[in-house]
Amino acid sequence: MEAFDYLIVGAGIVGLSTAWELKRRDPNTRILILEKEQRVGVHASGRNSGVLHSGIYYGANTLKAKVCAAGAAKMREFAAEHGIRCKRSGKVIVATSAKDLITLERLLNNARDNHIRAEKLDADTIRSIEPHAYPYQAGIYSPDTAVIDSLGVVEKLRDLLTNQGVILRYGQNVNTVKFDTRVIEASGERFSYGFLFNCAGANADRIARPFGVGGQYALLPFKGLYYKLAPGRDYLVKSSIYPVPDISLPFLGVHLTRVISGDVYAGPTAIPAFGRENYGMLSGLHVGESLRIGWRLLQMYTSNRQNFRYLMHTEMSKYLKSHFLEAVQKLVPEVRAADLLPSAKVGIRPQLVNIRERRLEMDFVLERTPYSLHVLNAISPAFTSSFAFAEMIVDRHEIAV
Ligand SMILES: Cc1cc2nc3c(=O)[nH]c(=O)nc-3n(C[C@H](O)[C@H](O)[C@H](O)COP(=O)(O)OP(=O)(O)OC[C@H]3O[C@@H](n4cnc5c(N)ncnc54)[C@H](O)[C@@H]3O)c2cc1C
Repeated sequence: MEAFDYLIVGAGIVGLSTAWELKRRDPNTRILILEKEQRVGVHASGRNSGVLHSGIYYGANTLKAKVCAAGAAKMREFAAEHGIRCKRSGKVIVATSAKDLITLERLLNNARDNHIRAEKLDADTIRSIEPHAYPYQAGIYSPDTAVIDSLGVVEKLRDLLTNQGVILRYGQNVNTVKFDTRVIEASGERFSYGFLFNCAGANADRIARPFGVGGQYALLPFKGLYYKLAPGRDYLVKSSIYPVPDISLPFLGVHLTRVISGDVYAGPTAIPAFGRENYGMLSGLHVGESLRIGWRLLQMYTSNRQNFRYLMHTEMSKYLKSHFLEAVQKLVPEVRAADLLPSAKVGIRPQLVNIRERRLEMDFVLERTPYSLHVLNAISPAFTSSFAFAEMIVDRHEIAV
Protein backbone atom coordinates (compact mmCIF):
# COMPACT_ATOMS: atom_id res chain seq x y z
CA MET A 1 0.00 0.00 0.00
CA GLU A 2 1.43 3.39 -1.02
CA ALA A 3 1.82 5.83 1.86
CA PHE A 4 1.33 9.59 1.73
CA ASP A 5 2.14 12.20 4.32
CA TYR A 6 -0.91 14.22 3.32
CA LEU A 7 -4.26 13.57 1.72
CA ILE A 8 -6.07 16.62 0.37
CA VAL A 9 -9.73 16.36 -0.59
CA GLY A 10 -10.67 18.82 -3.36
CA ALA A 11 -8.60 20.38 -6.13
CA GLY A 12 -10.04 23.87 -5.97
CA ILE A 13 -7.80 26.81 -5.16
CA VAL A 14 -7.80 26.00 -1.43
CA GLY A 15 -6.72 22.37 -1.89
CA LEU A 16 -4.13 23.22 -4.54
CA SER A 17 -2.60 26.14 -2.65
CA THR A 18 -2.45 24.00 0.51
CA ALA A 19 -0.48 21.40 -1.45
CA TRP A 20 1.72 24.21 -2.82
CA GLU A 21 2.47 25.45 0.69
CA LEU A 22 3.20 21.94 2.02
CA LYS A 23 5.65 21.40 -0.84
CA ARG A 24 7.23 24.81 -0.27
CA ARG A 25 7.95 23.84 3.34
CA ASP A 26 9.15 20.35 2.52
CA PRO A 27 9.82 19.42 -1.13
CA ASN A 28 10.08 15.74 -0.17
CA THR A 29 6.66 15.53 1.37
CA ARG A 30 4.31 13.05 -0.33
CA ILE A 31 0.87 14.41 -1.20
CA LEU A 32 -2.23 12.81 -2.70
CA ILE A 33 -5.11 15.04 -3.88
CA LEU A 34 -8.49 13.45 -4.55
CA GLU A 35 -10.91 15.38 -6.75
CA LYS A 36 -14.38 14.18 -7.63
CA GLU A 37 -14.51 15.96 -11.01
CA GLN A 38 -12.46 15.14 -14.10
CA ARG A 39 -10.52 18.42 -14.03
CA VAL A 40 -9.67 21.32 -11.75
CA GLY A 41 -11.73 24.51 -11.41
CA VAL A 42 -15.16 22.99 -12.12
CA HIS A 43 -16.74 24.71 -9.10
CA ALA A 44 -16.19 28.03 -7.28
CA SER A 45 -12.51 28.41 -8.19
CA GLY A 46 -13.28 28.38 -11.89
CA ARG A 47 -16.55 30.30 -11.73
CA ASN A 48 -15.80 33.43 -9.74
CA SER A 49 -15.49 37.10 -10.67
CA GLY A 50 -11.71 36.88 -10.78
CA VAL A 51 -11.27 39.91 -8.53
CA LEU A 52 -8.31 40.12 -6.18
CA HIS A 53 -9.85 42.02 -3.31
CA SER A 54 -7.90 44.58 -1.31
CA GLY A 55 -9.31 43.43 2.07
CA ILE A 56 -11.24 46.60 2.90
CA TYR A 57 -14.42 44.74 3.87
CA TYR A 58 -13.00 42.82 6.82
CA GLY A 59 -12.51 43.91 10.43
CA ALA A 60 -8.92 43.64 11.63
CA ASN A 61 -9.60 40.75 14.03
CA THR A 62 -10.95 38.44 11.32
CA LEU A 63 -9.11 35.61 9.59
CA LYS A 64 -10.10 37.20 6.29
CA ALA A 65 -8.28 40.42 7.17
CA LYS A 66 -5.20 38.47 8.19
CA VAL A 67 -4.84 36.80 4.81
CA CYS A 68 -6.66 38.85 2.16
CA ALA A 69 -4.19 41.63 1.31
CA ALA A 70 -1.19 39.36 1.88
CA GLY A 71 -2.79 36.68 -0.31
CA ALA A 72 -3.54 39.17 -3.09
CA ALA A 73 0.10 40.29 -3.12
CA LYS A 74 1.30 36.69 -3.30
CA MET A 75 -1.21 35.90 -6.04
CA ARG A 76 -0.02 38.88 -8.11
CA GLU A 77 3.59 37.68 -7.71
CA PHE A 78 2.57 34.16 -8.71
CA ALA A 79 0.80 35.52 -11.80
CA ALA A 80 3.82 37.63 -12.79
CA GLU A 81 6.20 34.71 -12.35
CA HIS A 82 4.08 32.25 -14.34
CA GLY A 83 2.72 34.46 -17.10
CA ILE A 84 -0.90 34.48 -15.87
CA ARG A 85 -2.99 37.47 -16.90
CA CYS A 86 -3.50 39.83 -13.95
CA LYS A 87 -4.15 43.56 -13.91
CA ARG A 88 -4.21 45.95 -10.97
CA SER A 89 -7.13 47.94 -12.36
CA GLY A 90 -8.53 49.43 -9.11
CA LYS A 91 -12.16 49.84 -8.16
CA VAL A 92 -14.62 52.33 -6.78
CA ILE A 93 -17.18 51.60 -4.08
CA VAL A 94 -20.05 54.05 -4.43
CA ALA A 95 -22.56 55.14 -1.82
CA THR A 96 -26.11 55.07 -3.13
CA SER A 97 -27.88 56.47 -0.04
CA ALA A 98 -27.21 58.46 3.15
CA LYS A 99 -27.08 55.19 5.09
CA ASP A 100 -24.19 54.01 2.92
CA LEU A 101 -22.10 56.99 4.01
CA ILE A 102 -21.90 55.53 7.54
CA THR A 103 -20.74 52.16 6.20
CA LEU A 104 -18.17 53.91 4.01
CA GLU A 105 -16.53 55.22 7.18
CA ARG A 106 -16.47 51.71 8.60
CA LEU A 107 -14.75 50.44 5.46
CA LEU A 108 -12.20 53.25 5.67
CA ASN A 109 -11.50 52.27 9.28
CA ASN A 110 -10.92 48.70 8.14
CA ALA A 111 -8.53 49.98 5.49
CA ARG A 112 -6.60 51.95 8.09
CA ASP A 113 -6.51 49.04 10.54
CA ASN A 114 -5.44 46.58 7.85
CA HIS A 115 -2.92 48.97 6.23
CA ILE A 116 -4.73 48.92 2.92
CA ARG A 117 -4.62 51.80 0.49
CA ALA A 118 -8.09 53.37 0.12
CA GLU A 119 -9.22 56.93 -0.38
CA LYS A 120 -12.55 58.58 0.35
CA LEU A 121 -13.51 60.73 -2.63
CA ASP A 122 -16.38 63.09 -3.39
CA ALA A 123 -18.84 62.22 -6.15
CA ASP A 124 -17.10 64.35 -8.80
CA THR A 125 -13.72 62.79 -8.15
CA ILE A 126 -15.28 59.31 -8.29
CA ARG A 127 -16.69 60.28 -11.67
CA SER A 128 -13.25 61.34 -12.87
CA ILE A 129 -12.29 57.67 -12.36
CA GLU A 130 -15.58 56.07 -13.45
CA PRO A 131 -17.40 58.72 -15.52
CA HIS A 132 -20.72 56.83 -15.61
CA ALA A 133 -20.94 55.89 -11.92
CA TYR A 134 -23.55 57.73 -9.91
CA PRO A 135 -22.45 58.06 -6.28
CA TYR A 136 -24.61 59.60 -3.59
CA GLN A 137 -22.16 62.25 -2.34
CA ALA A 138 -19.10 60.04 -1.92
CA GLY A 139 -17.29 56.79 -2.53
CA ILE A 140 -14.03 54.98 -1.96
CA TYR A 141 -11.26 54.37 -4.44
CA SER A 142 -9.25 51.18 -3.92
CA PRO A 143 -6.18 51.30 -6.20
CA ASP A 144 -4.91 47.82 -5.33
CA THR A 145 -7.93 45.81 -6.43
CA ALA A 146 -6.93 43.62 -9.36
CA VAL A 147 -8.50 41.22 -11.84
CA ILE A 148 -6.98 37.87 -12.69
CA ASP A 149 -7.50 34.80 -14.85
CA SER A 150 -8.65 32.58 -11.98
CA LEU A 151 -8.93 29.38 -14.02
CA GLY A 152 -5.42 30.09 -15.32
CA VAL A 153 -4.17 30.14 -11.72
CA VAL A 154 -5.68 26.77 -10.77
CA GLU A 155 -4.51 25.14 -13.98
CA LYS A 156 -0.98 26.45 -13.51
CA LEU A 157 -0.94 25.23 -9.91
CA ARG A 158 -2.12 21.80 -11.10
CA ASP A 159 0.76 21.62 -13.58
CA LEU A 160 3.41 22.82 -11.14
CA LEU A 161 2.25 20.46 -8.40
CA THR A 162 2.13 17.50 -10.75
CA ASN A 163 5.69 18.31 -11.84
CA GLN A 164 6.69 18.33 -8.18
CA GLY A 165 5.39 14.80 -7.78
CA VAL A 166 2.01 15.53 -6.17
CA ILE A 167 -0.46 12.81 -7.18
CA LEU A 168 -3.79 14.21 -8.36
CA ARG A 169 -6.55 11.67 -8.88
CA TYR A 170 -9.74 12.74 -10.63
CA GLY A 171 -13.18 11.16 -10.43
CA GLN A 172 -12.71 10.32 -6.74
CA ASN A 173 -15.71 11.18 -4.65
CA VAL A 174 -14.43 11.04 -1.09
CA ASN A 175 -17.87 10.76 0.53
CA THR A 176 -17.64 7.02 0.30
CA VAL A 177 -14.50 6.34 2.33
CA LYS A 178 -14.03 5.57 5.99
CA PHE A 179 -12.10 8.25 7.77
CA ASP A 180 -11.09 6.66 11.02
CA THR A 181 -8.36 4.34 9.74
CA ARG A 182 -6.16 6.85 7.86
CA VAL A 183 -6.35 4.51 4.90
CA ILE A 184 -8.21 5.43 1.74
CA GLU A 185 -9.19 3.46 -1.33
CA ALA A 186 -9.03 5.28 -4.66
CA SER A 187 -9.08 3.88 -8.21
CA GLY A 188 -9.02 0.39 -6.76
CA GLU A 189 -5.77 1.13 -4.89
CA ARG A 190 -5.32 1.67 -1.15
CA PHE A 191 -3.31 4.53 0.24
CA SER A 192 -2.43 5.42 3.78
CA TYR A 193 -1.99 9.03 4.88
CA GLY A 194 -0.66 10.87 7.89
CA PHE A 195 -2.94 13.92 7.86
CA LEU A 196 -6.02 14.90 5.89
CA PHE A 197 -6.97 18.39 4.69
CA ASN A 198 -10.64 18.73 3.86
CA CYS A 199 -10.77 21.41 1.12
CA ALA A 200 -13.95 20.12 -0.48
CA GLY A 201 -15.71 23.47 -0.95
CA ALA A 202 -19.47 22.91 -1.06
CA ASN A 203 -19.13 19.43 0.50
CA ALA A 204 -16.69 20.30 3.28
CA ASP A 205 -19.39 20.07 5.98
CA ARG A 206 -20.37 16.55 4.93
CA ILE A 207 -16.78 15.36 4.98
CA ALA A 208 -16.11 16.99 8.37
CA ARG A 209 -18.99 15.29 10.19
CA PRO A 210 -17.64 11.73 10.33
CA PHE A 211 -14.53 13.22 11.95
CA GLY A 212 -16.74 14.52 14.75
CA VAL A 213 -16.31 18.20 13.89
CA GLY A 214 -18.54 20.90 12.43
CA GLY A 215 -21.78 19.41 13.78
CA GLN A 216 -23.14 22.90 14.47
CA TYR A 217 -22.73 23.91 10.83
CA ALA A 218 -24.24 23.26 7.43
CA LEU A 219 -23.38 24.73 4.05
CA LEU A 220 -26.14 26.50 2.16
CA PRO A 221 -25.70 27.22 -1.54
CA PHE A 222 -26.23 30.73 -2.93
CA LYS A 223 -26.38 31.17 -6.68
CA GLY A 224 -24.34 33.85 -8.38
CA LEU A 225 -25.84 34.81 -11.74
CA TYR A 226 -24.19 37.31 -14.07
CA TYR A 227 -25.24 39.32 -17.10
CA LYS A 228 -22.71 40.50 -19.63
CA LEU A 229 -22.71 44.17 -20.63
CA ALA A 230 -23.28 44.50 -24.39
CA PRO A 231 -19.89 45.11 -26.04
CA GLY A 232 -21.06 48.41 -27.61
CA ARG A 233 -22.07 49.71 -24.17
CA ASP A 234 -19.23 48.45 -22.03
CA TYR A 235 -17.56 51.87 -22.16
CA LEU A 236 -19.91 52.61 -19.23
CA VAL A 237 -17.49 50.78 -16.93
CA LYS A 238 -13.75 51.39 -16.95
CA SER A 239 -12.73 48.83 -14.32
CA SER A 240 -14.88 47.93 -11.31
CA ILE A 241 -17.87 49.64 -9.70
CA TYR A 242 -19.18 48.17 -6.44
CA PRO A 243 -22.04 49.15 -4.12
CA VAL A 244 -21.52 49.65 -0.40
CA PRO A 245 -22.32 46.20 1.04
CA ASP A 246 -24.59 45.34 3.93
CA ILE A 247 -21.82 44.47 6.37
CA SER A 248 -24.03 42.14 8.39
CA LEU A 249 -23.97 39.79 5.38
CA PRO A 250 -21.11 38.00 3.65
CA PHE A 251 -22.10 39.10 0.12
CA LEU A 252 -20.91 42.24 -1.65
CA GLY A 253 -23.97 42.98 -3.78
CA VAL A 254 -24.30 43.07 -7.57
CA HIS A 255 -21.37 44.97 -9.06
CA LEU A 256 -19.88 45.76 -12.44
CA THR A 257 -16.46 44.37 -13.25
CA ARG A 258 -14.25 44.59 -16.29
CA VAL A 259 -12.76 41.11 -15.99
CA ILE A 260 -9.35 40.06 -17.25
CA SER A 261 -10.69 39.20 -20.75
CA GLY A 262 -11.82 42.83 -21.11
CA ASP A 263 -15.54 41.97 -20.99
CA VAL A 264 -17.74 43.68 -18.43
CA TYR A 265 -19.97 41.53 -16.23
CA ALA A 266 -22.75 42.58 -13.90
CA GLY A 267 -23.31 40.32 -10.88
CA PRO A 268 -23.12 38.03 -9.09
CA THR A 269 -26.41 37.62 -7.29
CA ALA A 270 -26.60 35.69 -4.01
CA ILE A 271 -29.88 33.86 -4.64
CA PRO A 272 -30.61 30.97 -2.28
CA ALA A 273 -30.28 27.78 -4.33
CA PHE A 274 -31.72 24.35 -3.61
CA GLY A 275 -28.72 22.22 -4.53
CA ARG A 276 -24.99 22.46 -3.94
CA GLU A 277 -24.42 22.27 -7.69
CA ASN A 278 -27.72 23.77 -8.84
CA TYR A 279 -26.16 25.90 -11.58
CA GLY A 280 -29.16 25.81 -13.91
CA MET A 281 -32.85 26.13 -13.07
CA LEU A 282 -33.32 22.42 -12.25
CA SER A 283 -29.89 20.88 -12.78
CA GLY A 284 -28.07 19.67 -9.67
CA LEU A 285 -31.26 19.24 -7.64
CA HIS A 286 -31.78 16.14 -5.47
CA VAL A 287 -35.06 15.83 -3.63
CA GLY A 288 -33.69 14.93 -0.18
CA GLU A 289 -31.01 17.59 -0.27
CA SER A 290 -33.35 20.25 -1.65
CA LEU A 291 -35.80 19.57 1.18
CA ARG A 292 -33.03 19.84 3.77
CA ILE A 293 -31.84 23.12 2.25
CA GLY A 294 -35.42 24.40 2.07
CA TRP A 295 -35.92 23.57 5.75
CA ARG A 296 -32.74 25.41 6.75
CA LEU A 297 -33.70 28.42 4.65
CA LEU A 298 -37.09 28.45 6.37
CA GLN A 299 -35.40 28.41 9.79
CA MET A 300 -33.17 31.29 8.75
CA TYR A 301 -36.14 33.15 7.33
CA THR A 302 -38.22 32.85 10.50
CA SER A 303 -35.39 33.76 12.88
CA ASN A 304 -34.46 36.66 10.54
CA ARG A 305 -30.98 37.16 11.97
CA GLN A 306 -28.78 39.44 9.85
CA ASN A 307 -31.95 40.66 8.14
CA PHE A 308 -32.15 37.35 6.28
CA ARG A 309 -35.72 37.89 5.13
CA TYR A 310 -34.72 41.04 3.30
CA LEU A 311 -31.82 39.17 1.69
CA MET A 312 -34.16 36.40 0.51
CA HIS A 313 -36.69 38.84 -0.95
CA THR A 314 -34.22 41.09 -2.72
CA GLU A 315 -32.06 38.25 -4.05
CA MET A 316 -34.92 35.99 -5.20
CA SER A 317 -36.39 38.95 -7.06
CA LYS A 318 -33.18 39.22 -9.10
CA TYR A 319 -34.31 36.18 -11.10
CA LEU A 320 -36.36 38.89 -12.81
CA LYS A 321 -34.18 40.94 -15.08
CA SER A 322 -36.02 44.14 -14.16
CA HIS A 323 -34.97 43.77 -10.51
CA PHE A 324 -31.42 42.86 -11.44
CA LEU A 325 -31.35 45.95 -13.65
CA GLU A 326 -32.50 48.12 -10.72
CA ALA A 327 -29.48 47.00 -8.71
CA VAL A 328 -27.17 47.81 -11.63
CA GLN A 329 -28.79 51.18 -12.27
CA LYS A 330 -28.11 52.27 -8.69
CA LEU A 331 -24.45 52.16 -9.68
CA VAL A 332 -24.67 53.24 -13.33
CA PRO A 333 -28.09 54.68 -14.22
CA GLU A 334 -27.32 54.73 -17.94
CA VAL A 335 -27.39 50.92 -18.19
CA ARG A 336 -30.61 49.83 -19.94
CA ALA A 337 -32.30 46.44 -20.03
CA ALA A 338 -31.07 45.84 -23.58
CA ASP A 339 -27.47 46.38 -22.42
CA LEU A 340 -27.61 43.32 -20.15
CA LEU A 341 -26.99 40.21 -22.21
CA PRO A 342 -27.71 36.74 -20.82
CA SER A 343 -24.53 34.98 -19.76
CA ALA A 344 -23.55 31.39 -19.12
CA LYS A 345 -21.38 32.55 -16.24
CA VAL A 346 -22.85 31.26 -12.98
CA GLY A 347 -21.30 30.16 -9.72
CA ILE A 348 -22.49 28.74 -6.41
CA ARG A 349 -21.23 30.13 -3.13
CA PRO A 350 -21.33 27.52 -0.41
CA GLN A 351 -22.07 29.63 2.64
CA LEU A 352 -21.66 28.20 6.13
CA VAL A 353 -24.63 28.55 8.44
CA ASN A 354 -24.42 28.09 12.19
CA ILE A 355 -27.54 25.96 12.53
CA ARG A 356 -27.77 26.38 16.31
CA GLU A 357 -27.57 30.15 16.21
CA ARG A 358 -29.28 30.42 12.82
CA ARG A 359 -26.84 32.87 11.37
CA LEU A 360 -24.49 33.04 8.41
CA GLU A 361 -20.84 32.70 9.39
CA MET A 362 -18.99 35.77 8.19
CA ASP A 363 -15.41 34.55 8.50
CA PHE A 364 -13.39 31.56 7.33
CA VAL A 365 -13.85 28.61 9.69
CA LEU A 366 -11.14 26.04 10.35
CA GLU A 367 -11.75 22.96 12.51
CA ARG A 368 -9.14 20.40 13.45
CA THR A 369 -8.80 16.92 14.86
CA PRO A 370 -5.47 15.22 15.63
CA TYR A 371 -5.19 13.90 12.06
CA SER A 372 -7.34 16.23 10.00
CA LEU A 373 -8.11 19.87 9.31
CA HIS A 374 -11.39 21.07 7.78
CA VAL A 375 -11.81 24.28 5.81
CA LEU A 376 -15.50 24.88 6.36
CA ASN A 377 -16.29 28.31 5.00
CA ALA A 378 -13.98 29.07 2.09
CA ILE A 379 -16.12 31.92 0.85
CA SER A 380 -14.96 35.07 -0.89
CA PRO A 381 -12.20 36.28 -0.66
CA ALA A 382 -10.77 32.75 -0.37
CA PHE A 383 -9.57 32.91 -3.96
CA THR A 384 -7.76 36.22 -3.42
CA SER A 385 -6.37 35.04 -0.10
CA SER A 386 -5.46 31.49 -1.08
CA PHE A 387 -1.65 31.60 -0.90
CA ALA A 388 -1.67 33.34 2.50
CA PHE A 389 -4.70 31.32 3.65
CA ALA A 390 -2.79 28.12 2.81
CA GLU A 391 0.03 29.28 5.08
CA MET A 392 -2.52 29.73 7.87
CA ILE A 393 -4.04 26.31 7.16
CA VAL A 394 -0.66 24.57 7.22
CA ASP A 395 0.38 26.49 10.36
CA ARG A 396 -2.81 25.29 12.08
CA HIS A 397 -2.09 21.69 11.20
CA GLU A 398 1.34 22.02 12.75
CA ILE A 399 -0.05 23.19 16.08
CA ALA A 400 -0.56 20.21 18.37
CA VAL A 401 -4.16 19.76 19.51
C1 LIG B 1 -20.01 33.71 -8.18
C2 LIG B 1 -18.78 33.77 -7.35
C3 LIG B 1 -17.95 34.88 -7.41
C4 LIG B 1 -16.81 34.96 -6.60
N1 LIG B 1 -15.95 36.01 -6.77
C5 LIG B 1 -14.78 36.01 -6.09
C6 LIG B 1 -13.81 37.01 -6.33
O1 LIG B 1 -13.98 37.86 -7.19
N2 LIG B 1 -12.68 37.00 -5.59
C7 LIG B 1 -12.44 36.05 -4.63
O2 LIG B 1 -11.41 36.10 -3.97
N3 LIG B 1 -13.33 35.07 -4.41
C8 LIG B 1 -14.47 35.01 -5.13
N4 LIG B 1 -15.36 34.01 -4.94
C9 LIG B 1 -15.07 32.98 -3.93
C10 LIG B 1 -14.02 31.98 -4.40
O3 LIG B 1 -14.26 31.57 -5.72
C11 LIG B 1 -14.04 30.80 -3.46
O4 LIG B 1 -13.89 31.29 -2.15
C12 LIG B 1 -12.92 29.79 -3.73
O5 LIG B 1 -12.87 29.46 -5.09
C13 LIG B 1 -13.13 28.56 -2.88
O6 LIG B 1 -12.19 27.60 -3.26
P1 LIG B 1 -12.33 26.10 -2.80
O7 LIG B 1 -11.11 25.39 -3.24
O8 LIG B 1 -12.67 26.07 -1.36
O9 LIG B 1 -13.65 25.58 -3.52
P2 LIG B 1 -13.89 24.90 -4.94
O10 LIG B 1 -13.28 25.66 -6.03
O11 LIG B 1 -15.36 24.65 -5.02
O12 LIG B 1 -13.10 23.53 -4.83
C14 LIG B 1 -13.54 22.45 -4.07
C15 LIG B 1 -13.21 21.20 -4.86
O13 LIG B 1 -13.54 20.08 -4.05
C16 LIG B 1 -14.09 19.10 -4.90
N5 LIG B 1 -14.91 18.22 -4.07
C17 LIG B 1 -16.07 18.54 -3.44
N6 LIG B 1 -16.55 17.48 -2.77
C18 LIG B 1 -15.66 16.47 -2.99
C19 LIG B 1 -15.61 15.14 -2.57
N7 LIG B 1 -16.56 14.61 -1.79
N8 LIG B 1 -14.58 14.36 -2.98
C20 LIG B 1 -13.59 14.88 -3.77
N9 LIG B 1 -13.60 16.15 -4.21
C21 LIG B 1 -14.62 16.93 -3.81
C22 LIG B 1 -14.90 19.90 -5.90
O14 LIG B 1 -15.18 19.18 -7.07
C23 LIG B 1 -14.01 21.10 -6.13
O15 LIG B 1 -13.14 20.92 -7.22
C24 LIG B 1 -16.51 33.90 -5.72
C25 LIG B 1 -17.33 32.78 -5.67
C26 LIG B 1 -18.43 32.69 -6.49
C27 LIG B 1 -19.26 31.45 -6.47
